[in-house]
Amino acid sequence: MSESIVDIKKNHVTVWNNCLSVIKDNVDAENFNTWFKPIKSVKLENNILTIQVPSHFFFDWLEEHYIDILRKVIRHELGSEGKLEYSIVIDSTHENGTMRVPATNNREVYNPTTYMPININNGRNETIPNPFIIPGLKKIQVNSQLVESYSFDNFVEGSCNRLARSAGYAVANQPGKTSFNPLFIYSNVGLGKTHLLHAIGLRVKNQFPDKIVLYVTTEQFIQQFVDAIKTNNANDFQHFYEMIDVLLIDDIQSLSGKEKTQDIFFHIFNYLHQNGKQIVITSDKSPIDLVGFEQRLLSRFKWGLSADLQVPDFETKVAILKKRIYNDGIEFPDEVIDYMAYSINSNIRELEGALISIMAQSSLNKKEITLDLAKQMIDKYVKVTSREITIDYIQKVVCSHFGLSIETINSPTRHREIVQARQLIMYFAKKYTKYSLATIGMHCGNKDHATVLHACKTINNLIDTDKQFRIQAEKIDKKIKM
Ligand code: ADP
Ligand code: MG
Repeated sequence: MSESIVDIKKNHVTVWNNCLSVIKDNVDAENFNTWFKPIKSVKLENNILTIQVPSHFFFDWLEEHYIDILRKVIRHELGSEGKLEYSIVIDSTHENGTMRVPATNNREVYNPTTYMPININNGRNETIPNPFIIPGLKKIQVNSQLVESYSFDNFVEGSCNRLARSAGYAVANQPGKTSFNPLFIYSNVGLGKTHLLHAIGLRVKNQFPDKIVLYVTTEQFIQQFVDAIKTNNANDFQHFYEMIDVLLIDDIQSLSGKEKTQDIFFHIFNYLHQNGKQIVITSDKSPIDLVGFEQRLLSRFKWGLSADLQVPDFETKVAILKKRIYNDGIEFPDEVIDYMAYSINSNIRELEGALISIMAQSSLNKKEITLDLAKQMIDKYVKVTSREITIDYIQKVVCSHFGLSIETINSPTRHREIVQARQLIMYFAKKYTKYSLATIGMHCGNKDHATVLHACKTINNLIDTDKQFRIQAEKIDKKIKM
């Protein structure tokens, strides 16, 4: 009897029950009851088992924590071609309010170390042949790497992001045809740069299905370039990027100090720009404040529009929370939402992190979501996510301590107090960041690593020998850690 005949006879209920009995042996009882009991099997068709989960949050949780075991039991029950699909209840008041999503193990994923999409098929990697060396191929298939949930619909507008959002929207409607080219979006972490970049890409794909859109992180871009050099494929690499209609490149600050990659990016940028293609760049700093970049590249970043994203105000935070909660289909009292919006002021990622912790706590322990639970979770959550200390932050603290401006500190002046403030910045940067001496030097008025080393020694000496100095240094240290 062939395998497919057996499949037809298989019943989704039996298959899922078999899966459950294996899962039960491998997951503790509490988690099993929370995450697997509520699942219903829906159907088995073409070797795809569809299971229904109660909410989007539930789906995320399964994918994050249980995908390995799910993959194994599906393979065991349905063979290597077997697949899993979720049906997510998005609106519990309507019978048909569900959304279908394939499990990670049968989704197409992008291999960040090559610039070719690969198919992950139950653990077997099949590489699609390099698209630009196939002779006579007219159209290339590029995996855009876009995340569906990072859409404009899910991006809440507020005064903190209005300019960047509307510029992004305009660009998505007329890629390459507005004066916002490049569109340069900058902000601190967790304020929506990556989300906005995907939103632009998704909207372009939606309106102009023929346009080639690519989202890429600068880290991926660098890695691909390094690999291309190693394998003598730098030309292919460049040609590949020159075929893109809308290039969305995230976290460009990572190109700092990478001269060779900047050089090839410069050529790709020029080619795309001259040919009316759209470029959108994000960065943690404005083009004016970026360091370690060639001037010709910085000047191009300023050709179009630079727009920043600010920390959201209270109303925007509430709106963002409500949108997420609605999408996840979970009940949340208003007073808890207000409390969260009041107490979390750093960025949107932290806000979402706290939301997820509260939801997880409440569903794991079957606790109602109350103000008390939220307070407990936020206390715990905000304490554990200690803020990352950056060189820029250290610079700000030291400058404000001495009442100096950032320009003065970066100017070539040899005035003793300023030299000392600069040395303190280097010393604390060495103490609190993972950056190399060379990188620290670059961020502190373009000094070399020997200067930084000398600065650290000098400050250590002063701390050991000069009591007044030590008191000042301790004060600054406290402020940095605050
Ligand atoms: P960044 O790239 O600036 O570090 P992200 O784009 O990763 O920030 O955003 C962090 C999280 O906050 C993401 O989950 C994103 O969906 C969410 N987020 C940011 N801005 C908004 C917004 N305006 N509306 C809804 N969600 C947002
Ligand atoms: Mg980002």
